[in-house]
Amino acid sequence: MSNDSDTFDLLRVPVIGRLLKWRHARTLLQIPLLILSIAMILHGLFGPALAPKNLATTLTWVHFRGALVLVLLCAGNFFCMACPFMLVRQFARKLFRPRLNWPRALRTKWLSAALFVAILFSYELFDLWSSPRWTAWLIIGYFGAVLIVDGMFKHAAFCKFVCPIGQFNFVASLVSPLEVKVREHGVCDGCRTKDCIRGRRDELVVIQRGCELALFQPLKAGNMDCTFCLDCVQACPHDNVGILSRLPASELMTDPKRSGIGIFSRRRDIAALAMVFVFGAMLNAFGMIGPVYAVERWIRAFFHFDHEAPVLGLIFGFFLVAEPVLLVGLAAWVSRLWGGSQTPVIPLAVRYSYGLVPLGFGVWLAHYGFHFLTGLFTVIPVTQSAAASLGWTWFGEPRWRLTGLPATFVQPLELGFLVMGLAGSLVVMHQLALREPGNRTSRAFAPWAAVCIVLFCAALWMMFQPMEMRGMLAAG
Ligand code: SF4
Ligand code: SF4
Repeated sequence: MSNDSDTFDLLRVPVIGRLLKWRHARTLLQIPLLILSIAMILHGLFGPALAPKNLATTLTWVHFRGALVLVLLCAGNFFCMACPFMLVRQFARKLFRPRLNWPRALRTKWLSAALFVAILFSYELFDLWSSPRWTAWLIIGYFGAVLIVDGMFKHAAFCKFVCPIGQFNFVASLVSPLEVKVREHGVCDGCRTKDCIRGRRDELVVIQRGCELALFQPLKAGNMDCTFCLDCVQACPHDNVGILSRLPASELMTDPKRSGIGIFSRRRDIAALAMVFVFGAMLNAFGMIGPVYAVERWIRAFFHFDHEAPVLGLIFGFFLVAEPVLLVGLAAWVSRLWGGSQTPVIPLAVRYSYGLVPLGFGVWLAHYGFHFLTGLFTVIPVTQSAAASLGWTWFGEPRWRLTGLPATFVQPLELGFLVMGLAGSLVVMHQLALREPGNRTSRAFAPWAAVCIVLFCAALWMMFQPMEMRGMLAAG
């Protein structure tokens, strides 16, 4: 099997390809983000307490999240490639070598899915978007967690089993158009060294790492767990690994055995992570609109809660447990009944649940894209102000009137993202139904299409409610 020679390969694009293949390319991308992270921590801790005037909150909650989803949409997981936490880890590993293997019982996505929920919960409970101090401590905590986990455990334990941002990127990149992939499978068949996974050594010294995420290129299928670190590209002695184009979300339409992961339909932990991604998108958007306050008031009054945590706990329980169990469980049950599948309900629910990822990604895109585009230029006055506080006046007076693109321009884009997500999910669900034995594709597909449409309508309703302009001066 070989990849179509017409397939676009980013590593063969002049200049960009050479740059990405340069062995210090990753470091080159990480250094500016590390400097930015340090600036954000310092400004978060010692700068203005008002969120729209602080780099920590503005960059984290307005710009970083929006840029992240747009890069995932247009290319792939380049944010993991440029991850500044990994640069610090690399440096630390020069000083002390990890000795332990990550515990076998934790080699799943359950822990990282729980941490993903914990971040969403903390975001709402502590109003992270409005607190530069808490945001700075979150970034510091992240650096600390990377150093502890990867300081103790070998390989890329933090990326693969812990990091909630990484898991978000892995799931979102299932619908990205680019994938790190073998160019010619025939070349791998004749390859004796398998350096892409083993790495290259000179005597006992590692001169190039192989894939730390345990993805063996010839058997790698899709973007799950791939950090785009390009170690495999560097290691392959046959220049047989590229960054190739593909039909977005196509990897969700089939269910192959994936190197380092296994079979998606047998991985309940990854399906649960995908559900947190999809229903977390709805929850995070719901937290931004007026009706959430009415719901909170009602819960508080009904249960006589004094604190916000149990109120949020109930809302989270509804969105992340009751809603997915009800919708996905019901759809699986009806789909099995109508489609005549012999697969039990839970495995069927697991298999189809991945089909909701494109729609979930559409919701994240619409939400984060909205904040990013409507607050696009806010970084300018915040940077001017931060520079001025250090006595650097070259940037001029902060131009606080700068905001971003008008909402009337951004809202059609939001609609486009949602429609794109819906279309993607419907196509994936239909392809999965086509693979059911027998000839009842439409009947197996119908309940899943209904779930997609219900979620799409809910997302549409939320997107066109007045949104809280978190992190922007307009809010205050
Ligand atoms: S080292 Fe290169 S050629 Fe060999 S198996 Fe890996 S990707 Fe294929
Ligand atoms: S080495 Fe592994 S994680 Fe890095 S780009 Fe290659 S396959 Fe992806």
